[in-house]
Amino acid sequence: EARHWLPCHDYPNERSTTEVICHVPPEMTVLSNGRKVAEAIDAATGLKRVQWIQEKPHVSYLVCLVAGNLAKLEGRHRDVPLGFYTQPSTAAEAANSFEDTAAIMAFFEDDIGVAYPWGKYDQVTIQDFVAGGMENTSLTTLTDQTLHTKATETIRSSRGLDAHELAHQWFGDLVTCKDWSHLWLNEGFATYYAHLYDGHKFGRDELLYGLWNDAEGRILTQGDDTRPVVWKGYKDANEQFDYRAYPKGGWVLHMLRSHFGDDLYRKAVKTYLDRHSLATVTTDDLRQVFEELSGKPLDRFFDQWLYHARHPDLRIGYQWNPEEKLAHVTVRQTQPASDKVLTFAFETSVRFTFDDGTSVERPVRVTGTSHDFHFPLDRQPKLVRFDPHYTLLAKVDFPVPEAMHLAQLNVADDMIGRIIAVKGLEQTRSRAAVERLGKTLREDGFRGVREQAAHALQAIGSDEALAELRKSLSQPDARVRRRVVEGISAYYRPGVMEQLVAIVGTEQNPAIQAVALHGLAKYQDPAARDTILDALRSDSYRQEVAEAAMDALGQHQDATLLQPLIRLVEAKPDAFPPRVLGTALRTAGKLGSLREDKAFVREFLEAHLLDARPSVRHAAIGALGALGDVQSEALLQGLAKQGSSDRTGKVAEEALATLRAKQPLVPGEVKELRSQVRKLEESQQKLLEKVDYLERRLKANTEPAVAQPAPAG
Ligand SMILES: [Zn+2]
Repeated sequence: EARHWLPCHDYPNERSTTEVICHVPPEMTVLSNGRKVAEAIDAATGLKRVQWIQEKPHVSYLVCLVAGNLAKLEGRHRDVPLGFYTQPSTAAEAANSFEDTAAIMAFFEDDIGVAYPWGKYDQVTIQDFVAGGMENTSLTTLTDQTLHTKATETIRSSRGLDAHELAHQWFGDLVTCKDWSHLWLNEGFATYYAHLYDGHKFGRDELLYGLWNDAEGRILTQGDDTRPVVWKGYKDANEQFDYRAYPKGGWVLHMLRSHFGDDLYRKAVKTYLDRHSLATVTTDDLRQVFEELSGKPLDRFFDQWLYHARHPDLRIGYQWNPEEKLAHVTVRQTQPASDKVLTFAFETSVRFTFDDGTSVERPVRVTGTSHDFHFPLDRQPKLVRFDPHYTLLAKVDFPVPEAMHLAQLNVADDMIGRIIAVKGLEQTRSRAAVERLGKTLREDGFRGVREQAAHALQAIGSDEALAELRKSLSQPDARVRRRVVEGISAYYRPGVMEQLVAIVGTEQNPAIQAVALHGLAKYQDPAARDTILDALRSDSYRQEVAEAAMDALGQHQDATLLQPLIRLVEAKPDAFPPRVLGTALRTAGKLGSLREDKAFVREFLEAHLLDARPSVRHAAIGALGALGDVQSEALLQGLAKQGSSDRTGKVAEEALATLRAKQPLVPGEVKELRSQVRKLEESQQKLLEKVDYLERRLKANTEPAVAQPAPAG
């Protein structure tokens, strides 16, 4: 935080110009906000003096100084120079991380309608950075973990981070939230515009899939939280940096854009930026602009989504009335309303699709907890979709028959509908469902649907589902291939270990090899162990494969694996980046705890307590706790008492607690337990198959030949 290195009023509500002057050894680079006005060797000291001026006022948390030995890549968008700085040892990977920057800037200028507000844009990667990225005015700092090679294909990318931080140059830097209760005006915009760029680059389905992941993975899981997005109750600003400001803020913007359409939405955003340029903003400033331009009151919209907590939980019912040719749709809001959570008002639509592929849409306006809609239609629809354009943030429970899910998977232009169908089939678990999920995993046109199909086949857990996964390894998109390997790894069945061994041997993508190695961790088998040991000695970017092998070793409960690990680290101590070295130390602690004689492991770990890098020291301290050698107790006590400016004292306290609670595991018992678990799993599987068979017999006897839509709930 700025106040720790610079005397200032460290709050976002005050702006000023800034000037940074820095003296460094001549070979170093100095970066800061704004414009470099001077750089020269000072004859008196032999040092290089560099002077930067930020001429347009900005707030204190955006002031930044970076100095170091840096390699530079250059780019340009219009007349805006783009600089990409990395440590010289990682310069080869810089181009991968910054490949989208110019295109993102061009897209944002076009969509936002306001030119990039500063004279240049620099990005620099930082070792041991505390966050993913920080959007300092015209100088974004990024974790060096964002650097990657092409070997990981689509699995690693800096695109999202790059776009998020660049969006902040408008939303956060040009206009800044007045206090942290309005943080979503920074983070919600940055989150949403990163998704918008994905949609621009790869097609609208990527935008929607980003929103779907945010909703399902981060927002709709928070139903117990009664804090609104705009919340003044925080004690520490950090409490505001969570799903409310980021993905939920992004969703609020998506709902505004969906409701008003692209043109009015973009006009409103441009007006908001122009009107408050180089000033602070509150949520009401944004509301006023939308109200002025649309002529519509937005009190209720802002009140329910931003000043009150949560999202609607919806129970949707559907019934076809053949005599009157009426589709009866019910919408119930079931979230518990209170002074903190409102009953929501919203508009969306229902889409009815017929046998010939044509469809009609009917509007749905909801203001209360229970609504009944009766739509006259020519004939009975085959498919019914609630909120088909995905414009509403809500937890939707809409039970439909399996036949409708199966048919839904054929609708090529409704990606979210296909994901809903995948989730539905994951619940029905029938043989037809498993087969269709396998086909979807191999053939669907969108990678997100294929990923979700792999996920469903993992969750179903039957032999048939595993067989579908094993048939689906040939995936051009590495993200899906990784999901398939994760799915297979989750099964503990005959043949799986052999397949994982084969994947480690043939797969070229280190991120996927790593998944297979993690999967092998649970096999106490010589073939698994040998594969892990080979991988331990392998070489990959940032030692990603070796690190996965270390993790797997740690779960192997075999103390004889300790020697190869320690020998490797001692033979080439500089081969491992700090994070991987930390993993090696933690694994050594775990494996060492299995041994009677812990002295040499303890000495190995203690040697790393003097490492210059805090993350390595902390890993060594934690590993000493896990090792459980009482000889370390005094040392850890000393570190805990000593405290320090970083987290060392706290880490030492935790390690002490672990050491004292340590009950050494008995490897023989663990092996025995594993084999018992395996036997139990086998017998449970047989039972499940029997139940499945009986259910199918029962259904065959009772179900009509053509499934009818379920009655309204
Ligand atoms: Zn951000």
